[in-house]
Amino acid sequence: MTKRDYYEVLGVSRNASQDEIKKAYRKVAMQYHPDRNPGNKEAEEKFKEAAEAYEVLSNPDKRAQYDRFGHAGMRGQGGFGGGGMRMEDIFTNFGDIFGDDIFGSFFGGGHSQQRPGRGMRGSNLRVKIKLNYSEIANGVNKKIRVKKYIPCQQCGGNGAKDKGSFQTCSQCGGSGQVRRVTSTFLGQMQTVTTCPSCNGEGTIITSKCNNCHGSGKVYGEETVSIDIPAGVQQGMQLSVNGKGNAGDRGGAPGDLIILIEEEAHPELQRDGLNIAYDLYISLTEAIFGSQQEVPTIEGHAKIKIPPGTQSGKIFRLRSKGFPDIQSHQRGDQLIQVNVWTPQALTEDEKVLFEKLKDSDNLKPNPGKSEKSFFDKVRDVFS
Ligand SMILES: [Zn+2]
Ligand SMILES: [Zn+2]
Repeated sequence: MTKRDYYEVLGVSRNASQDEIKKAYRKVAMQYHPDRNPGNKEAEEKFKEAAEAYEVLSNPDKRAQYDRFGHAGMRGQGGFGGGGMRMEDIFTNFGDIFGDDIFGSFFGGGHSQQRPGRGMRGSNLRVKIKLNYSEIANGVNKKIRVKKYIPCQQCGGNGAKDKGSFQTCSQCGGSGQVRRVTSTFLGQMQTVTTCPSCNGEGTIITSKCNNCHGSGKVYGEETVSIDIPAGVQQGMQLSVNGKGNAGDRGGAPGDLIILIEEEAHPELQRDGLNIAYDLYISLTEAIFGSQQEVPTIEGHAKIKIPPGTQSGKIFRLRSKGFPDIQSHQRGDQLIQVNVWTPQALTEDEKVLFEKLKDSDNLKPNPGKSEKSFFDKVRDVFS
């Protein structure tokens, strides 16, 4: 199934403000909410689709990435690969969208009861990945060891010593929320806030896990496998859902943000999708013509230098550059010829060149057939 455009899913324009996006999502989520469409698979898919679109468009970093690279820029994100987002993650985010109170009253508190018991979300982690030109051109799978907080194995991440170490919070009765009635000049107002005793978790741990001391996480290491799409660029960020630090007591993990760095190539230089290479040839190679081997992203290529080639001539190897991350269209490799003027001659060579010194035939005669520097540049980039 091809993914629909996120903006289309929410029915907003590409330059919609954060507020418009939030409002649009609220509308779509209400329409397809499982409570209103029990047993309706199609509504559920639409509900998930909207949540995924909102997850990306509500985050300025992810939105910028999506705007530049489309769904390809979102690849390698844990939750988005096959099955989209998980239902419980969607409901976890609902508090921010609807406010606990509005949501609770609309849907009888149905799914918002999943909120208690989940701890704080883990923080995002940033790592740099250095890629060489070949990896950038082809895409690559990288397995990296990330030092980070991982769920505690001993307690399974809940922070308690054992099953008997939980007690329903007495202040909120397990709901994680407390209602407060305040008197205002408009009359009595009821507000719902997170329970201060249990921090909204609904339960209190009476006896903490002795491995993680109740946090549900420990400092450790995880090997993360990341599919990096072909065509990434220096400075680009990819975010991998749920691979950041573990949350407190079973809270959702943060994201892993991958910062792309390009490893410099000893001979080639990237310019957007194109690759530039400076080729130096000798006077005689320029005069008589020659066959030259030039480095490319993948191995070497042979090019033919015709007799009488001028310094500054640019040759093009089509499609030997980098692919565009979205269209997969490839750039070219551009080879500029530089004729090397010898700097120290032997006595014999001096005698030979002296003989040619006054030859009229060797004098520059560019005429109309030789293009100017700017014309050459225009030729290459148009
Ligand atoms: Zn533990
Ligand atoms: Zn409580």
